Amino acid sequence: MHIDLRSDTVTLPSKAMKLFMMEAPLGDDVFQEDPTINKLEAYAAKYFDKEAALFCASGTQTNQIAINVHCKPGDAVICSEDAHIYFYEGGGIAKNSGCSVQLLKGDRGRITAEAVAENIKDPTNPHYPLTRLVALEDTMNRGGGAIYDFNAIKEIRKVCDSNNLPLHLDGARVFNALIENKIQPHEYARPFDSISICLSKGLGAPVGSILLGNKDFIDRARRVRKVMGGGMRQAGIIAAGGLYAMQNNIDRLKEDHLHAKQLENELQQLTWIENVLPVQTNIIVAKVAAHKNVDKIIQKCAQKGLFFMPFGEQTFRMVTHLDITNKDINDCIHILKTIS
Ligand SMILES: *Cc1c(COP(=O)(O)O)cnc(C)c1O
Repeated sequence: MHIDLRSDTVTLPSKAMKLFMMEAPLGDDVFQEDPTINKLEAYAAKYFDKEAALFCASGTQTNQIAINVHCKPGDAVICSEDAHIYFYEGGGIAKNSGCSVQLLKGDRGRITAEAVAENIKDPTNPHYPLTRLVALEDTMNRGGGAIYDFNAIKEIRKVCDSNNLPLHLDGARVFNALIENKIQPHEYARPFDSISICLSKGLGAPVGSILLGNKDFIDRARRVRKVMGGGMRQAGIIAAGGLYAMQNNIDRLKEDHLHAKQLENELQQLTWIENVLPVQTNIIVAKVAAHKNVDKIIQKCAQKGLFFMPFGEQTFRMVTHLDITNKDINDCIHILKTIS
């Protein structure tokens, strides 16, 4: 048995996806002559009603490029203390762009318009860094897949507008959010100046992320991507996987969410579980009882073929994805019940 719930990045391309990739027309993308990349970028831009898009190697790359385009060295980025751009991108905000951060506490990583407004520094006071960007994450990874209320996003947009600040979305799992909040992608994307989406998480492509924004922003992003060594040549061969994923694998995310709900319900019954963050999408974050050792539990499960990750003190994370079947979920529940 091998049930891998460590991340939704572990999915393998299906046969149909690989065939699609094999047949994709290719060209040199640094010359902007790769038809498949051009098609994917146009498809994604249209999907979110943005002017332009840029195919990149990873979500870290799209986020870091966006920060680099929006900010200058010495500027500050407002984000949650749990934001992927800060917590998981290797100090990239400082290293790549020379920027500092203003970290906000959030509800499962979701920050509020009030907190953003309170933390924007007075730009006329030379003591402070210039607040230059607000960044949100939806769904929120460290918040256990929590989804923003769209009205809260619109409120944050208003604060950005009155302070002349751009708003970036780390939408690595934005499709998981959109499946649940049922907001049309065009409407949802409107408050954001830039959006990063991942093709290799829930959507199941082997590689790739896309950065979205207006034409001028994407032109500048293309330059930064080249500087960061992200100019790829016949990369349509991987972009094809992303195009296939966008065309075929969005609606089925609902299934992953049902699987995650099922696991949440089962985990709640177990005596060795203290609590589970209410599941909203495909991420389950649970805390084990005080007298239990989370690493030992993870080890015991791994011996039985069930894999998941530690996620902070006494806590673990499970992520459902397209390679997890109904049977896997039943087997997983069976294994969890044998742990004491
Ligand atoms: C996975 C992830 C990213 C990007 O990760 P890469 O591994 O660089 O593609 C960005 N933001 C969030 C919230 C993520 O979960």
